[in-house]
Amino acid sequence: MDLEALSSSQEPLRKGMVTWISQSQCKVLSDGELYVCLLSQDVESSLVVGDIVSFTVVNEKDYIIKNLHIRQSFFARINDNPPYNQQLLAANIDAVVIVVAPNKKAIKTKLIDRCLISAKRGGVDALICLNKIDLIDSEVVDLLDNDLQVYRELQLPIQKCSAETGEGIDALKEVLSGKKVVFVGHSGVGKSSLINALAPQAKLVIGEVRESDGRGRHTTTSSKIVQLSDGTCLIDTPGFKSFSIGDKALTDLQYYFDEFNEYRDKCKFTDCSHTDEPNCQIKWAVREGKISRKRYESYLRLLGKDPSPLSKTAFKCIHCGSMVSPNDAGTKHRNHCPHCLYSLHLDFNPGDRAACCGGVMEPVAVWVRKGNEWAIIHRCQECSALSSNRIAADDNEFLLLSLAVKPLSTPPFPLEHLIPQGQN
Ligand code: GDP
Ligand code: ZN
Repeated sequence: MDLEALSSSQEPLRKGMVTWISQSQCKVLSDGELYVCLLSQDVESSLVVGDIVSFTVVNEKDYIIKNLHIRQSFFARINDNPPYNQQLLAANIDAVVIVVAPNKKAIKTKLIDRCLISAKRGGVDALICLNKIDLIDSEVVDLLDNDLQVYRELQLPIQKCSAETGEGIDALKEVLSGKKVVFVGHSGVGKSSLINALAPQAKLVIGEVRESDGRGRHTTTSSKIVQLSDGTCLIDTPGFKSFSIGDKALTDLQYYFDEFNEYRDKCKFTDCSHTDEPNCQIKWAVREGKISRKRYESYLRLLGKDPSPLSKTAFKCIHCGSMVSPNDAGTKHRNHCPHCLYSLHLDFNPGDRAACCGGVMEPVAVWVRKGNEWAIIHRCQECSALSSNRIAADDNEFLLLSLAVKPLSTPPFPLEHLIPQGQN
């Protein structure tokens, strides 16, 4: 068919929303009616469910898309593999419903973090829906709810429901009322079932969860849209197997973490990446529990960093420059250099030494801890904090010895005053 000739018709343009797309045609909802429209070459590959288009009738029976209106918002996933292209899932939406289901008494929060970044980039609100609560005891629901607390603190609405029993569905319906929303999440979490429960007439294909591994089969291959009588639009999307957020987002990743806002300006370095830098207020806030550790770890993982970098990797001694391997000579993780015994007042892991100061720590003494464990006492040259650190089998013996005898060679207080008057 010659689409160019067809599209030169003089018929007035109609406006509507794309609800379904195939290779050569799409369905457009306009004034309450569905029109099947032919796709012209220039919009063919770029259309997505939720797009607003203008179309016109040709030959008194065929409709053809004339143009695509500018998108007010969108939700996209970036494919995990090269060329990391962006896959738009829906356009002109108000919110994304991130659906999660309980998995061995835990919730996979990584996907939530990724979806939140995509939502922010696309200019859409987000809410979390914990589905399948019929499968777990109420105590476990509370436990999982605790996992989600961090998102509640980020002002995200959280709905708990079951598409199976209908529990919580009315509340979800109310939250979504009048909005255009897209459902996203791993396959098998119940996105299609939720849409069916919210709009029983929708009749979406429901997948089956394999008993063995709990993972759903892919049943939804492209986004579909369902409209309720009050105007609410529900968009179903294919389940995610994996979902990256793309290189562009990585460069300014920290700005997608709202909870960092309060602290980032106070970091020592104005261009702090909040990873390896000393005196980083974000890390300090994590340490003090003001920022969720899980969210911070999510941030590190998205940057491709090990969430516990300081305890697992080899480091170069700040004082003598030797390379120190993280774990040998009977220690699981080192805090000081075995050659010069100096340390750094920086440790992201919780425990007695956790600190973000970044100052050089000088070894000042040796002592015996509880359980006859020998340790070095370090003093921070920056903030004067003292901390004690287990001695490793390959620590420099001469330096240890010189530390041990220091009080004898230069007594810290005049010893003669200890001897009572008249006895010398
Ligand atoms: P989707 O891939 O996210 O769209 O998931 P589906 O809607 O296809 O659901 C996957 C499977 O989970 C189906 O077998 C559903 O019957 C089941 N399912 C969905 N929601 C619930 C729920 O709330 N409770 C229970 N027990 N099963 C559910
Ligand atoms: Zn920082």
